[in-house]
Amino acid sequence: VREKPGSNFHFFSPDILTTWKNTFNLEFSLRKALKGNQFELHYQPQKDIKSGNIVGCEALLRWKHPDKGYIPPDHFIPLAEKNGMMLELGEWVLREACRQNKKWHSTGTYRGLIGVNLSARQLHQPELAEKVKEILEETGLSAEYLELEITESATISQNNEVLNSLRQLRELGVHVSIDDFGTGYSSLKYLSIFPISKLKIDKLFMKQEVQHNQAIVKSIITMSHSMEMKVIAEGVETEEQLVFLEKENCDEVQGYYFYKPLPLQEASELFLQAQ
Ligand code: C2E
Ligand code: CA
Ligand code: CA
Ligand code: CA
Repeated sequence: VREKPGSNFHFFSPDILTTWKNTFNLEFSLRKALKGNQFELHYQPQKDIKSGNIVGCEALLRWKHPDKGYIPPDHFIPLAEKNGMMLELGEWVLREACRQNKKWHSTGTYRGLIGVNLSARQLHQPELAEKVKEILEETGLSAEYLELEITESATISQNNEVLNSLRQLRELGVHVSIDDFGTGYSSLKYLSIFPISKLKIDKLFMKQEVQHNQAIVKSIITMSHSMEMKVIAEGVETEEQLVFLEKENCDEVQGYYFYKPLPLQEASELFLQAQ
């Protein structure tokens, strides 16, 4: 089925998971999918608020199932994470994202960075930095154009291995951002310890009708800037949200108000036009 632009998962039926009676079947299907090139990345542009330029894009994983159409990541990543498949899949994502960004850079299509989501397992992999270094060398992408998105979790602040990995990544020149900021394990301690270059304010806080959300967003922006981090708001869907974020000096924005995650072809066309 051909997807209409911007209508992700239109053909997805919610009872899909019941067709996998157990995780064994899903694991089997995931392996087949990886071998059979059924995974692809979609790219959601990120804008610098002041200049309006596209400065980054987030790579988001999609499983294009031959019969079932696009299956959203939330439906298979947690299971892949459980059965260990996510390391392999995560490595595929990283390589594909770096390869594509290098291609855009060398053809002059796009000059920004690419954001790649890391799963918990990848983050706790002791050889993470080495793997990333290998992939950068292999694809030829310069480290400054890669941003790894990690999520807050109870384990990372106590984990020396993670801290070591993050330091090594920083030495390589790779950026690290905290994804879904404000929703996870709320320890601010690691913000001062970890080499983090950007906070991504979770889309939950964009709901302006909810009491205190604006105050929370303001505080996150102020805190980020005083700690010399950049801050990006996710899930921006309305002009009002944008106006508020502009007023509060948020650096970057990402959301349906600007662009949905785009398939490769559409992303490339947009980047060319936007130059
Ligand atoms: P995330 O990293 O927080 O990604 C942002 C999600 O919000 C994406 O959903 C994106 O399509 C959606 N989104 C973007 N703009 C808006 C908006 O304006 N409004 C709303 N309501 N949603 C918006 P998606 O692509 O379904 O991904 C869901 C989650 O799956 C991601 O959340 C991430 O945690 C995970 N994920 C996706 N790709 C990967 C991957 O390659 N590796 C890993 N480990 N996780 C991934
Ligand atoms: Ca993310
Ligand atoms: Ca997020
Ligand atoms: Ca998330």
